[in-house]
Amino acid sequence: AGGPLRVAGYFSDDERAPETRRKIEEAMYYLGRLYDIPEPEFAIVKEEDWAEAWKRSYHPIRVGDRIFIKPAWAEVEAAPGDIIIEMDPGMAFGTGTHPTTQLCLRACEWFCVPGIAMADIGTGSGVLAIAAAKLGCYKVLALDTDPVAVRVAQENVERNGVAEVVTVQRGSIETFQRTARHFDLAMLNLTARIILEMVPNGLQHVVWPGSKMVFSGIIQEQVDEVITALESIDLEVLGQRQIDDWVMLITQRRIP
Ligand code: SAH
Repeated sequence: AGGPLRVAGYFSDDERAPETRRKIEEAMYYLGRLYDIPEPEFAIVKEEDWAEAWKRSYHPIRVGDRIFIKPAWAEVEAAPGDIIIEMDPGMAFGTGTHPTTQLCLRACEWFCVPGIAMADIGTGSGVLAIAAAKLGCYKVLALDTDPVAVRVAQENVERNGVAEVVTVQRGSIETFQRTARHFDLAMLNLTARIILEMVPNGLQHVVWPGSKMVFSGIIQEQVDEVITALESIDLEVLGQRQIDDWVMLITQRRIP
């Protein structure tokens, strides 16, 4: 409602860039015939600038009752009992400020009790894996398909002194198909589409029967479809939490 809406998007300036640009211009042209919208503008952002620019707006934040996320370069005073996570997300997702991450960090506070093993699928910056380790999980497996995320997550894990507990690897759901090991808790902050794709691939076997899997990154319109799919593989939805349009589902693998 009200004022103008500005939409910004980023794509790599590689050999496919001219084609991507052409498609955007074409789509905007057709949209422009239906709505009164201006022509798109294009500009090149240097990778270094991009990686540095957002730092100016990245401030320490408190999440939940005890978690305190601080940019690696910031000086802050924490309260006694705080769990401090030092982050430099670089080009990876997971500063801690996004609603989907905040929901997951709340779930970490509830479910990451000492002595359990946790799987973080789509670790991004490693923020959830680090939180899990600092909350007492004895073993954390952090996976991502993006090699940049794997590198950044490993750096953040070391920065936070939890490298003994957290293993960072390139991988995804198929990583679990090669092992008989199950986890006591799994967190997946992905998208509805990616979660739905994992459903036929033994998603529920990541955790033990009776253990919880937490799914985030789901927009409200897609929740029903995701719930139906999860229930079909014996992941019972125990509850959900929401910030804006973002929904997190808390599920438990049924005991046969
Ligand atoms: N866990 C972090 C980051 C979430 S962003 C947080 O909560 O803030 C989602 C991450 O999942 C991205 O880093 C992306 O590279 C990764 N990803 C995307 N598809 C994936 C897949 N199929 N398997 C594993 N990781 C995936």
